[in-house]
Amino acid sequence: MQPIELLRELSDAFGVSGFEDEVREILRARISPFVDSVTVDALGNLVAMRKGKDDRVLMLDAHMDEVGFIVKWVDDKGYVRFAPLGGWDERIVAGHRVVLRTRDGRKRLGVIGSAPPHILTAEERAKPIPMDRMFVDVGATSRQEASDLGVEIGDPFTIHYPFSEIADGYVTGKALDDRAGCAVLVETAQRLADQKLPMTTAFSFAFGEEVGLRGATTAAFHIDPSLALAVEGTIGADMPGIAEESQPTRLGRGPALSVADRSIVVSPKVVRALEKLADGNGIPYQYKLPTYGSTDAGAIHLTRGGVLSGIVSVPCRFIHSPVSTLRLNDFENAIRLVAAFVRSAPNGLL
Ligand SMILES: [Zn+2]
Repeated sequence: MQPIELLRELSDAFGVSGFEDEVREILRARISPFVDSVTVDALGNLVAMRKGKDDRVLMLDAHMDEVGFIVKWVDDKGYVRFAPLGGWDERIVAGHRVVLRTRDGRKRLGVIGSAPPHILTAEERAKPIPMDRMFVDVGATSRQEASDLGVEIGDPFTIHYPFSEIADGYVTGKALDDRAGCAVLVETAQRLADQKLPMTTAFSFAFGEEVGLRGATTAAFHIDPSLALAVEGTIGADMPGIAEESQPTRLGRGPALSVADRSIVVSPKVVRALEKLADGNGIPYQYKLPTYGSTDAGAIHLTRGGVLSGIVSVPCRFIHSPVSTLRLNDFENAIRLVAAFVRSAPNGLL
């Protein structure tokens, strides 16, 4: 499978935080041929293991979940009220089509409606609509009809735009944060499949990052790694109106190395090791400017007695919105850097 097709399959899969099973099954199928074992823990983390010469474990992490919503009420006219799962910008939620997954696994369509501007006052038009006043129109005219369609309290849904290549080497999809990271891990496993690995390597696909680094917390405890790398689709902000010093990453400049975000100050030893590896392999890279966002590395590095952890990210524009974009050359260079890290682990760090 071409890397772009893997990205497409993963971005289009349904995987709102806590409801990652569709993504998990795709990842299980895609990574199984390249590892020794695959397990799923009680909470839904998928961990694929490859034995290496050294029993100490290098943990590679990417999170399976995407930001979405959950049904919190269906009113007697059949309109659905909802709460966010993960961080959304309320200003850009209204006016989109959604895909909702019912309890029996069916997908239903809906629309996040808003009152037409014609009937609003000037004051109402000037203000964003708070999320607790928004609703989803699923085509029902009563609570019973919504129920007949399969829509119930607790159902997850998300705004779904299909993955597309909008220009040569430039793609858009709904969930590049963090299916880009998931795809980097699968590609890395594939490219290293016929090589002996120096360290035992865990490819860990975490649930629930967007609701508080939850899956990585338990996965890291169980895996008990000596070294870890979180792979993210992170904030690309090279766009009009944003000052350069406020652009966490820029597209087309290679994978981003984190030095510090809100969840971790990365050990300088780890940053230096990644820089050296990138330089030695002719891989372009940039820094993710401190201290925007949080990552699974925040949870992993605080596990047990502490785990030396780094973060490599694929810059993605417009994350936590209905669409995101990335450049395939950044994605490819992230794979090359992560594969180089695994191949030469522990990179003088242990
Ligand atoms: Zn993420």
